Amino acid sequence: MDVVDRSTPEFREYLELYTGASLFELGARADAARWRLHPERAVTYIIDRNINYTNVCVADCAFCAFYRRPKHAEGYLLSFEEIGRKVDEVKALGGVQILMQGGHNPYIPFGWYLDLLRYIKRHHPIHIHAFSPSEVDFFATRFGMTIDLVLRELMAAGLDSIPGGGGEILVQDVRDRVARKKAGADRWLEVMEIAHGLGLKTSVTMMYGLGETDADRLEHLFRVRAVQARTGGFTAFICWPLQQEHTAMEGTVAKTDATTYLRTQALARIVLDNVPNIQASWVTMGMKVGQIALRFGANDFGSLMMEENVVSAAGTTVRTSLEEMQRLIRDAGFEPRKRRQDYSLLPEAA
Ligand code: SF4
Repeated sequence: MDVVDRSTPEFREYLELYTGASLFELGARADAARWRLHPERAVTYIIDRNINYTNVCVADCAFCAFYRRPKHAEGYLLSFEEIGRKVDEVKALGGVQILMQGGHNPYIPFGWYLDLLRYIKRHHPIHIHAFSPSEVDFFATRFGMTIDLVLRELMAAGLDSIPGGGGEILVQDVRDRVARKKAGADRWLEVMEIAHGLGLKTSVTMMYGLGETDADRLEHLFRVRAVQARTGGFTAFICWPLQQEHTAMEGTVAKTDATTYLRTQALARIVLDNVPNIQASWVTMGMKVGQIALRFGANDFGSLMMEENVVSAAGTTVRTSLEEMQRLIRDAGFEPRKRRQDYSLLPEAA
């Protein structure tokens, strides 16, 4: 476990930068860091699909509007066939991966996850980016297994990489207030470190606006950087603010603005000099802020994610969104490039 000493000159200097520097100074420093790591004008994006296999969850995170308690009438668990159909739909539209996450559902046996991975690989082969550290920790606790064994079994069944979901703010005091029942800060990072050791690449996220301090946000970045220095397994960092509507936290914390987002992402680009990619979060911040984010450290436009409601409109909606996304990247002064999960480039045939 890495203990972050908040009294070091480095920590204090970055904190001062985050809180005291002008927006443009922060942006300029982040932009310089971006060009050092990515001297080409390319801005990458991926076409994928978010599949939430279940919304049943016992973690009760205060910021979550998605989950339903066990036995709730709106609780669901997707069948293999439903998931297979979703994979086929994203593949038909040029998608190269699925991002599969779900609630901490106490009714699912471990064998179900393994069978699901094997089923997808056998009948609908695609890159499977799935099971955040919180889910992996839930599996380990629930099934009395080590993290190492859980991951080995998932990998043997077809897991390709792990998303950085459930990171929120990796400071235990904050998590104790908003996500007491799920993987703590140390455990979340431990899962990532073990995954990296087994050869899995992962992303890493930060959801801020949970009532944490500026120093808490910086500590989160320091902890990520410390793990990355040992493993090199984080491919990308993504941050976004809490979306508090319809959650237990609605109205309890101040909403943050676009400036805070740009400052936070810029700080991340400056501090995380060992994490190669920063993903702009236009899904939460809107397209315009997403474009500006490309000058505040981001070199990736994230995912053109197929939403459930656009799937039925066949390819049209997705193609329009794709053209719009490419246009936004070009208008911001960059060349759009389609990528795989590992950030290798794909031919740009839309
Ligand atoms: S673990 Fe995930 S699904 Fe469950 S309440 Fe927390 S954020 Fe929501």
